[in-house]
Amino acid sequence: KIEVAALRKRFGDLEVLKDINLTVEAGGVVALIGPSGSGKSTLLRCMNLLVAPDGGRVRVGADSFDFGNSGQLPPAKTLARFRANTGMVFQHFNLFPHMSVLANVMEGPLTVRRMPKAQAEPLARSLLVKVGLADKADAYPNKLSGGQKQRVAIARALAMEPEVMLFDEATSALDPELVGEVLQVMRALAAEGMTMVIVTHEIAFAREVADRVVFMRDGVVVEEGPARAVIDTPREEATRAFLSHFH
Ligand code: ATP
Ligand code: MG
Repeated sequence: KIEVAALRKRFGDLEVLKDINLTVEAGGVVALIGPSGSGKSTLLRCMNLLVAPDGGRVRVGADSFDFGNSGQLPPAKTLARFRANTGMVFQHFNLFPHMSVLANVMEGPLTVRRMPKAQAEPLARSLLVKVGLADKADAYPNKLSGGQKQRVAIARALAMEPEVMLFDEATSALDPELVGEVLQVMRALAAEGMTMVIVTHEIAFAREVADRVVFMRDGVVVEEGPARAVIDTPREEATRAFLSHFH
């Protein structure tokens, strides 16, 4: 479960997140949509404490942190727990180019979790099966398509066995014909009961896979509700105007 309460963040004079409240139930899938600059990425980055909010609370699973008005990140130990427990997948995959696919997926378990190789390798291989890349274990990232690289990035995030997964426009940089294979992996994860927050412009996918949709604009949650209700019959004019670009 993820809980964000009264979250605030500003960059200089710009208030990017204004009192955000958001709950994702365990096993729930929330799609976060909204125009460019509305604060979606910043909100995700606050959830795993890549960015320090100016105030508010964040809870992921059993770990919670209250920022008060400090704008300070928590102590290193809390921070490490948060980050290990929230798998994040970005638009650009940032695989280690000098490591094989298998080594990329094993890296987190070996170095962060201090798992023995005899345990990390079967874990990594099973995750490569899950993302449909068992046959690419020994390949290097530069030999993979964008869709394959992104599936490795998902396997690498899963290798930390996080309680929640955060996806920030995971398919936006892909050629159109490669989007489907990545969405398929995300769909399967959702069906398995992974708790997920997905920032996406794939509205049809959000409608199909997410339980709830949250529409943000200018650092505020304008509307949220069951995915189909928000997408098919938005209550707010701003949501309607945004969604009209996708029809
Ligand atoms: P997009 O759909 O384009 O990815 P977004 O909804 O993810 O947009 P954010 O990336 O969260 O939006 O950015 C929200 C606002 O905060 C933008 O105006 C952006 O320029 C600003 N911003 C984000 N990160 C920083 C930063 N590190 N320093 C200063 N301003 C920032
Ligand atoms: Mg963004």
